[in-house]
Amino acid sequence: MSFVEILDNLALQKSNLVRSFEHLIAPKSGQELEAMARASRALTLQNFGRTMRLFAPLYLSNECINNCRYCGFSRDNPILRVTLDVGEVIAEAQHLSHQGFRQILLVAGEHPKFIRRAYLAECVRALAPHFASISIEVAPMETQDYVPIIQAGAEGLVVYQETYNRGVYAEMHTAGPKRDFNFRLDCAERGYAAGFRRLGIGALIGLSRWQDEVIALAAHLEYLFRRCWQAQITVSLPRLRPAAGGFQPLFSMSDRELTQLVCALRITFPQLGIVLSTRECEQLRDSLALIGVTMMSAGSHTEPGGYTRRGREHLHRTVRGRIVAPEYQDGEDELATGQFEISDERSPAEIATVLRDRGLEPVWKDWDQVLCGS
Ligand code: SF4
Repeated sequence: MSFVEILDNLALQKSNLVRSFEHLIAPKSGQELEAMARASRALTLQNFGRTMRLFAPLYLSNECINNCRYCGFSRDNPILRVTLDVGEVIAEAQHLSHQGFRQILLVAGEHPKFIRRAYLAECVRALAPHFASISIEVAPMETQDYVPIIQAGAEGLVVYQETYNRGVYAEMHTAGPKRDFNFRLDCAERGYAAGFRRLGIGALIGLSRWQDEVIALAAHLEYLFRRCWQAQITVSLPRLRPAAGGFQPLFSMSDRELTQLVCALRITFPQLGIVLSTRECEQLRDSLALIGVTMMSAGSHTEPGGYTRRGREHLHRTVRGRIVAPEYQDGEDELATGQFEISDERSPAEIATVLRDRGLEPVWKDWDQVLCGS
């Protein structure tokens, strides 16, 4: 059965695993939550040791032909846009490399004119000799289109469904190819068939009731663990942050609920990589690092060129998708607009120090290779 069919029948038919996950995310007393946190911590130590993989996003482009109501890069937002050329991408990557990163995530919006597949492959090829792990988070593609990017050196594919609710998905994605819900839903499997060996999925928290989203997410994880059994699977739980366009979350999730969710995921899927980005504040990140999170971004910028201020020569503004001269507004920085505001603004070195102080070893490159002593 395809995951599309499983999702469409989920209200009527849940596996035993998804049912027990549903029980774990139901309201809990303080004592019950503490017991979950202890179990989650023990399972994390058992499966991942005292390690925390650190990575950085590198935004290649904020051009986009989609209108996603919650995203700062949405086509109709009149923001400053740029696509970095390969030399500028290398400069950004060198900056990250000097900070210690050996794992990067290349991120781009969707625009067939600016973000071609050959361009993505060229960026990966230029960075591959310097990074132990390169993942991409770009528009979904057909299986065969991923192959040159993998051959260039990428090993990870990240694609968030945003929301697993078809009705909400249609309301949130008002224009562009991203409106195709099923094409996005199958993307991780296509990536696996092409040869990616790290797959990242997730749901954007704030578009519908988080409990409904994460039950679908758990069903998706169960499916991928079975189908894509040679891949390392990670999940991300991004809560909406302020961004251009001013979209406000429609539903909230408290810090306590996010903590419970991390524990529930760890208890249900002991080998799942759990990613936490700089969207979350320092205190919460520091405490979740001890409970179940296994991978963190650090020192992130969500604007292309944000690390080195590269790309300013080709900056332009778009108005309803049309390119116009930038004409900077009062006080506006001459830098491409970011996707969203980050919360944890500590440097990678500061975050590494905090992790060490808490008994965790920050791992800057692939932990498999580290464990093998390479
Ligand atoms: S979420 Fe992705 S596809 Fe949608 S507007 Fe933002 S960059 Fe484009």
